[in-house]
Amino acid sequence: MSDLTADAVATEHPGAGNPAAPGGARTVAAAVPPSLVDRLAVGVTATGEPDLVETVAPLTGERLACLPQSTPADVEVAFQLARRAQTAWAALPVRRRAAVLLRFHDLLLKRQDEVLDLIQAETGKARLHAFEEVLAVAMAARHYGRTAHAYLKDKRRGGALPVLTHAVEARRPKGVIGHISPWNYPLELSVGDALPAFAAGNAVVNKPDTQTALTALWARELLVEAGLPADLWQVVIGDGPVIGPAVVEHADYVSFTGSTRTGRDVAQRAAARLVGASLELGGKNAMLVLSDADLDAAAAGAVRACFSSAGQLCISIERLLVHRSVADEFLERFAARTRALRLGGGLAYGADMGSLVSVRQLETTTRHVEEAVKAGATVVAGGHARPDLGPFFFEPTILDDVTPEMAVCSEETFGPVVSVYRFDTEEEAVAAANSTPYGLNSSVWTKDLRRGRTVAARLRTGTVNVNEAYAAAYGSVASPMGGMGDSGLGRRHGAEGILRFTEAQTIATQRLMPIAPSFGLDDKQFAAVMTSGLRALKALRFR
Ligand code: NAD
Repeated sequence: MSDLTADAVATEHPGAGNPAAPGGARTVAAAVPPSLVDRLAVGVTATGEPDLVETVAPLTGERLACLPQSTPADVEVAFQLARRAQTAWAALPVRRRAAVLLRFHDLLLKRQDEVLDLIQAETGKARLHAFEEVLAVAMAARHYGRTAHAYLKDKRRGGALPVLTHAVEARRPKGVIGHISPWNYPLELSVGDALPAFAAGNAVVNKPDTQTALTALWARELLVEAGLPADLWQVVIGDGPVIGPAVVEHADYVSFTGSTRTGRDVAQRAAARLVGASLELGGKNAMLVLSDADLDAAAAGAVRACFSSAGQLCISIERLLVHRSVADEFLERFAARTRALRLGGGLAYGADMGSLVSVRQLETTTRHVEEAVKAGATVVAGGHARPDLGPFFFEPTILDDVTPEMAVCSEETFGPVVSVYRFDTEEEAVAAANSTPYGLNSSVWTKDLRRGRTVAARLRTGTVNVNEAYAAAYGSVASPMGGMGDSGLGRRHGAEGILRFTEAQTIATQRLMPIAPSFGLDDKQFAAVMTSGLRALKALRFR
């Protein structure tokens, strides 16, 4: 771990680099007044005289909120309240539950400015990137609001004996979902994943990251306004290693998004209790620029791919693989766009990239860049912290000449840093993209769409975007999204995104005769009749 501090980083600012975006008149303090914090904090399950924990606004470093912390005993209370509310909720028709999601969609679009302020205040990201969260949640709300009924309805299946056995596959809610979410996409990763759980008839006990708890609490308030019974969504906050295990301890199913390291711990605890878990974890995602790519589109796409939310996006690209024949031209265009990105922290649209969330993220980013440069990497763009803009700003950075022993080559930076590698053959590019234990997202750029899809099929990642960075696959909410390998287990979105919150139940009804010797047949005769029956079914292509 680097011994760099924000102060040490600050002294290294060269005074040149990305332009600053125009600020705005509105301050974080005005957008998130104590009255709003107090109102939202009511949604935290924390009893007695709770300890208070302070959060800091990354854009300015000033105090943002003082929030009550839950204890493991509070987590138990949260599960009791949620469990009580879940019984009545599960008894409602699916369409009644789904209607809450549809009302939430409309309210969210109408009131988006409130939550955009909160997301910016808590994460420091640019408003455009905060809006991506609104977009993703609205799409998921509409999707599951309209389709939950179809995903969850009873499905007739072929019975053991044709005509005589009537079989139905039904879906039952798991009960209370333990839902643990990180700070980087606080709206999407708190409420976005909770929506299908609610539609399927569950309650949720959510542990958001403390840094971004206000956004989760705001979403909870809005969902209650849309018609969700208040006790159905409990929010507990506190230290991850203390409160997190308590959530897993009581949950009927765990939905976790965060680092691979924590994900392993969560998976082991869930496995010991024999409850299921979906784990959305880290990545070291690659983008492939093939020889026939539209280089302008690819350069613009790479900017989105690498620097959205200042690279603090699980599906963001940290490895750029470019065909040698176009590498110099592509890099020139990509670097020019990157150097022109306007950095800023105004609570308004206009900045192309915002701040990192914390000194921890700043330290990792700085360490990866500095160690790489010391070992021979070349900085093509960026490379420096920008304390003139705010305590945790770091320039969007492109590195060349990165070699395997550098941490930035294989470890997730989770900051605005991308390394460029050249390849000669498609084979080599696919092998390089797949040479990581992670398998979350990838991106392929080519004018030949069929070729793009063929290459995509060879990449070991849960999502692949052809001629887009990440939004095409992530926004296709009817299709599953998640990771292979160290990037996780299970999927959000699509059928898997809602069915993971259910137990499958088969109800088979037998008519007229049992599946056993009967009507005077002895065992041997029964076996002979059944054998003939199976042969007849095969001949009739029935089974
Ligand atoms: P983290 O694992 O440190 O924390 C995630 C959440 O887990 C937080 O709420 C934290 O308080 C809680 N937690 C911490 N220790 C715990 C424990 N022992 N038991 C249970 N919960 C615990 O991750 P982070 O640094 O907050 O988030 C960034 C990571 O998340 C990155 O690796 C990123 O790639 C990943 N991520 C993945 C996705 C995805 O969909 N695959 C999405 C966003 C972020």
